Amino acid sequence: MQKDDSPPIAKNIDLAGHTPMMAQYQRIKADFPDTLVFYRMGDFYELFYDDARKANRLLDITLTTRGQSAGEPVVMAGVPVHSVENYLARLIRLGEAVAIAEQVGDVATAKGPVERKVVRVVTPGTVTDSELMAERADTLLLALQRAAGKDAAKDSGRDAGKGAAAWGLAWLGLASGQLGLAECSDAELPAWLARLDAAEILHAAGALPAAVTQARAVCTARPPWQFDSALGQRKLCAQLQVATLAGFGAQGLATAHAAAAALLSYAEHTTGGGSLAHVRSLSVERAGDLLELPPATHRNLELVQTLRGEDAPTLLSLLDTCRSGMGSRLLRHWLTHPARERSAASARHDAIDGLIAHGFEPLREALRGVSDVERTTSRTALRQVRPRELAGLRDTLAALPALRALAPRGRQLLDEAHGALQPDAGIAELLRAIADEPAVLLRDGGVFADGIDADLDELRGINRNCDAFLLDLEGRERSRSGIPNLRVQFNRVHGFYIEVTSSHIDKVPADYQRRQTLKNAERYITPELKAFEDKALSAQERALAREKWLWEALLDALQQHLAALSALARALATLDALAALAERATSQGWCRPEFVNYPCIDIEAGRHPVVQARLAETGGSEFIANHCRLDARTRLLIITGPNMGGKSTFMRQVALVVLLGSIGSFVPAARCRLGPIDAIHTRIGAADDLANAQSTFMVEMTEASAILNSAGDCSLVLMDEVGRGTSTFDGLALAGAIASHLHDRNRAFTLFATHYFELTSFPLRHERAANVHVGAVESGHDIVFLHQIEPGPASRSYGVQVARLAGMPAAVVRQARSALEALEAGAVAGAAQIDLFAAPPAPEEPVAEPSPAPPAADSMPGSAVVQALAGLDPDSLSPREALAALYRLKNLAKEAS
Ligand code: ATP
Repeated sequence: MQKDDSPPIAKNIDLAGHTPMMAQYQRIKADFPDTLVFYRMGDFYELFYDDARKANRLLDITLTTRGQSAGEPVVMAGVPVHSVENYLARLIRLGEAVAIAEQVGDVATAKGPVERKVVRVVTPGTVTDSELMAERADTLLLALQRAAGKDAAKDSGRDAGKGAAAWGLAWLGLASGQLGLAECSDAELPAWLARLDAAEILHAAGALPAAVTQARAVCTARPPWQFDSALGQRKLCAQLQVATLAGFGAQGLATAHAAAAALLSYAEHTTGGGSLAHVRSLSVERAGDLLELPPATHRNLELVQTLRGEDAPTLLSLLDTCRSGMGSRLLRHWLTHPARERSAASARHDAIDGLIAHGFEPLREALRGVSDVERTTSRTALRQVRPRELAGLRDTLAALPALRALAPRGRQLLDEAHGALQPDAGIAELLRAIADEPAVLLRDGGVFADGIDADLDELRGINRNCDAFLLDLEGRERSRSGIPNLRVQFNRVHGFYIEVTSSHIDKVPADYQRRQTLKNAERYITPELKAFEDKALSAQERALAREKWLWEALLDALQQHLAALSALARALATLDALAALAERATSQGWCRPEFVNYPCIDIEAGRHPVVQARLAETGGSEFIANHCRLDARTRLLIITGPNMGGKSTFMRQVALVVLLGSIGSFVPAARCRLGPIDAIHTRIGAADDLANAQSTFMVEMTEASAILNSAGDCSLVLMDEVGRGTSTFDGLALAGAIASHLHDRNRAFTLFATHYFELTSFPLRHERAANVHVGAVESGHDIVFLHQIEPGPASRSYGVQVARLAGMPAAVVRQARSALEALEAGAVAGAAQIDLFAAPPAPEEPVAEPSPAPPAADSMPGSAVVQALAGLDPDSLSPREALAALYRLKNLAKEAS
């Protein structure tokens, strides 16, 4: 979805014939042409014309017409103010942006329509209201800029080389305060988009590469002049309150600075020019610092989403037993941003050790009650915070001493968190002003506690004690004047007055001033009653005004404490995420991995944590643990075995163990040693990408070639059934060639699952490769899966047995079994003819001549030609194979002559 929401510029709009109100609306709408404008009218937000039609379609709200303006009926649809958040949430989920135009002028004094102004623009990437956001995931706004001289449309489809910085990225989490910059190549862009998973992507108008349009984000075009590098540098310095970006290591990132210019302008635009006082630090991320997890790996390992697009069961859903949204968000960040350098992961392992030794359940219980300090801090900075959020913060601050007592110390991360759990007492002091249970909205009053402001107390006192005061005054005036039937009263027209019947007029004290004369009575006012009236008549409004003033003063005062609150939020999130990992480690029986500095993935009794948990949940069979050992001598495992045997599960579990270790979690294994790892690549499963005109096989080959182009000797590569998407010979040939490349050139740690048994001879010619297989036993026509990884190759696939288990009609199974027997008999006769691992032909020769199969010692030369000819199946040969066969036959014929 794309839209262009340029900043307000004076536009020539034709207002002729419009009613004053519709003219005002048109002026506002002109500044937000591609944004739904919610125009406040009393208790409703109204949408007009095309906005109304769109809202009617998207929200199913009633469309009406009312009156005329500029000779046209006014088409409108509205939503009630009190339930606006629900409608906003639905629109944001649909990728829409909404500009809220509030009444800002004084209704009582306005001549014509009361003044209205857009006070905030809610867009998918800039929301901060908890009602509009996922509690356990960050909402990021990302700006993307193409490096000068690069042509996005032209370069997007191919690998422009990892080194060339073709893109500048700048992102902002308005609700978390995180601000980041990065630059990357075309090839790296998809991984960045997957990692950041932004809700909204800003870009300069123009062609976007497929990687961007495929992201889940809403794409918003911004004017190209906003992507200005020098402007970006100035804006970043101003935002971070520094003279140079050197302290953040953010110099020289001209393309990222250009993206930051557009990013910060948009953030200001949507927050009504509000300050982003909570955004005071910047992280510069470099792809080389992170363990590479391409989008296919995110998808295939089901890290945060299942292949069906659901939130569970995934690795994250299994890991995340955090007690707060802050902890969950941090854990998600750890999972999607594992660092190659392992000191941060080691520090987390240490902390988990510390938590396990000390006990973590009471701490987790205490964390259950903490409020979302991170979002409250951001919303305080943006001055969008609600009274109840501040009350939640106050209660959390009050709970900190108890929480601190439960948080263990003695490990670096735990000590750091412990220190931040004691913010300046001044914050709690300020928040003491909030009522125990404040109103939801400031405009309802009742936000501040009694006893914190003398003026507010007095105003509230007047309201509460009005009747008592009047009775008291009446008594005093009766005794002072000696008029027994004197009454103090109130009416809406004349306000407060003292009424004296005509018979007692002569006793009226000198300071009474006549207000009104009735037939049998006079009405008076005294200085004391006048003063009371002034207070009482407007006491409620003035109490509200006073609360608004106190609120602004409170927000002003809190601005100085944003840094301490952010540190507190970080500490709580860290403790929560670490305690969740400690809980997983304990309840699931995970071990601490050991990091070593030589090539090694050594996993003893590893398990797939999600499959294991599912089996336990469903009361299925027990999960069978398996070993995996890859090192400098054995870098590639050819994995064979029956369908359903557990090959994919085994490969994925190795990747998950490596990833979990790298993020600083304990791992599902009995023992684990990990050498340096720089990437996890996966080529798994069959999916086509029809939208981008890619067939299943094309997707498979595109993904495989991306891996061959980038995996290195510290990368882990999972190849599942590569080559299955095409004819048997093509697929087999490609699988063999790909395995060779991974072994010889990439030298990556590779798990290569295949049903091509021909590949089990691969280790004979490749010294760093070995065969393993998953065990199964056959009993009659049935098969029992052992799920145990054993050395050596498997002998067969048992596909027909698995089909039988799947409920295939008996006739089909019978026919398949007899066809299989025939095929196997044929294959035995021709197997020696296929050489998968032969060197490719030299470029100058059209086709290299494969070495001929040696003729049997006792056969005549001429019969070798006949024998070779008989072994050929012309229907299954590709043109290239046919040519190679012809050369072979010619050679044999030459030898025979
Ligand atoms: P195919 O060749 O058909 O793709 P596969 O060999 O890749 O099959 P998996 O998909 O890994 O098989 O496993 C099939 C099922 O077997 C899993 O869904 C799981 O329920 C079970 N399974 C796999 N590994 C184990 C294990 N180690 N212990 C227990 N059950 C397992």
